[in-house]
Amino acid sequence: MYRTHTNGELRISDVGKEVCLCGWVQRSRDLGGMTFVDLRDRYGITQVVFNMETNADLCAKARTLGREFVVQIKGKVAERSNKNSKIPTGDIEIIANEINILNPAKTPPFTIEDHSDGGDELRMKYRYLDLRRDCVRKNLELRHRLSIEIRKYMDGQGFMEIETPFLVKSTPEGARDFVVPSRMNPGEFYALPQSPQQYKQLLMVAGYDRYFQLVRCFRDEDLRADRQPEFTQLDCEMSFVEQEDVLQMFEGLIRYLFKVEKGIDVPPLQRMSWQTAMDKYGSDKPDLRFGMEFTALKEVFPQGKFSIFDQSEWVGGICVPGGAEYTRKQLDELTDFVKRPQVGASGLIYIKCNADGSFKSSVDKFFNADELKAVAQACDAKAGDLILILAGKAAKTKTALGVLRLEMGNRLGLRDPFNYKLLWVVDFPLLEWDEEAGRFFAMHHPFTAPKPEDDAMLETDPGKVRANAYDMVINGVEVGGGSIRIHDKNLQKRMFKALGFSDEEAQAQFGFLMNAFEYGAPPHGGLAFGFDRLCALFGGADSIRDYIAFPKNNAGRDTMSESPSPISQAQLDELNLKVNLK
Ligand code: ASP
Repeated sequence: MYRTHTNGELRISDVGKEVCLCGWVQRSRDLGGMTFVDLRDRYGITQVVFNMETNADLCAKARTLGREFVVQIKGKVAERSNKNSKIPTGDIEIIANEINILNPAKTPPFTIEDHSDGGDELRMKYRYLDLRRDCVRKNLELRHRLSIEIRKYMDGQGFMEIETPFLVKSTPEGARDFVVPSRMNPGEFYALPQSPQQYKQLLMVAGYDRYFQLVRCFRDEDLRADRQPEFTQLDCEMSFVEQEDVLQMFEGLIRYLFKVEKGIDVPPLQRMSWQTAMDKYGSDKPDLRFGMEFTALKEVFPQGKFSIFDQSEWVGGICVPGGAEYTRKQLDELTDFVKRPQVGASGLIYIKCNADGSFKSSVDKFFNADELKAVAQACDAKAGDLILILAGKAAKTKTALGVLRLEMGNRLGLRDPFNYKLLWVVDFPLLEWDEEAGRFFAMHHPFTAPKPEDDAMLETDPGKVRANAYDMVINGVEVGGGSIRIHDKNLQKRMFKALGFSDEEAQAQFGFLMNAFEYGAPPHGGLAFGFDRLCALFGGADSIRDYIAFPKNNAGRDTMSESPSPISQAQLDELNLKVNLK
């Protein structure tokens, strides 16, 4: 037997027991005639003591132990004179009478501590050492607990977990596919699934009624801080349901998770139409932890006084509480912020509502005090507040103001990661016009059903059709989304037509799903949650990377295994592939 206990287990009630522990040397210190070794495993840390006077040889051996050596220690549990209330085993220590070095270790390239001296890159290269750190392990423990609770809830509701294939057909809609060459079918490729969307719909046709899967998905997109080329979804589908049934079911899941994991009673989720979200927050995933909602100002400013406003399709502002104190320099900084290409505004207009009731604005030349006062009233601004205004094309300007709103939320410390605000965003547009391609794309995916009351517009005014689609948003993060699906072959055909597919193209790409719909497809719908994101949110973190055991870096690389990597000519030949590197 290697060990009798783990390093997180022993308590004062165990004093006097002979025990055997295994683990890694966290640190050791020599204090006069004593050597103390902190022994670590995933369960905790236990202090081991070696006494020079009573056992000089053993103590000398203990002094040879380096950081991260793997050792086995036998000894007796004793009460500590110097207790450490910060750790659960802090009342006891082991008086050692034997050490076995199971494996020596090189000195790790960074300290295995919460506040490590290793930078991001170094820690990723030695991820197996990084994973030894408490803070990283806690993230993976959270992930594990959530996955177990999800399965409990889903099972309790009659959902079956069913695996769908990883080698699938490449389809053009959506993100870019990762492709896999087929050796047995020269010149042909599989794709890795971006999601099990079509398979879960086929499972509904097959009568499986309530399906879920914690499943890896793959998307070959340019990476941002919160994106990974492979990520995990909680993917779900139900038959004989309307939107309301799906919302209730998964609102139930999320509220359950908050209750069991965090002890938080989340109130029933607020619902907001996509249009309202865009008009009030400039985002389809509004962060409701703070106000600063938009006020539309085009009609509030008098016409004919300021040509920029006159020429703008939309003028809108947010009121920053207490912002009148902002200095010239701070305002210049904000102007630079909105002018960055990622935000894309052409300039920023401000109105300071001074404590004495006067106004100071960047448009004083064009508007008098009464006119500014009317704007302040429209924005519900009080003395001491600052109004920030953007003007331009409606959609673009709202998005830019939305980014500025979040920035102001950050600056004012209004975005506490542990203050959770959840909502459903509903009634998304079905289609989105793409200027470059000169055609509509499905905003969610091409299997999403239009709202029945908008159905007739699919041919006459496609851009106006709303979808039976919904997103769950927590703290400004889209954690999940889905839709009621099209289950009628004719409607699916009309949808493909609206997307600019000929019948033949649609048949070639999605024929198997459309054919299946001819064999008795039930009405169905579902959604998928981004599981990594959900974990990050529960952990109060921004990046999903910390919740994935072996993530890729921002260039999509695994720096530990050094992949992707070239393959041999023999492999290429076998796959009938020619690599043409320019
Ligand atoms: N498959 C969709 C996605 O990955 C989710 C859904 O509609 O169920 O976003």
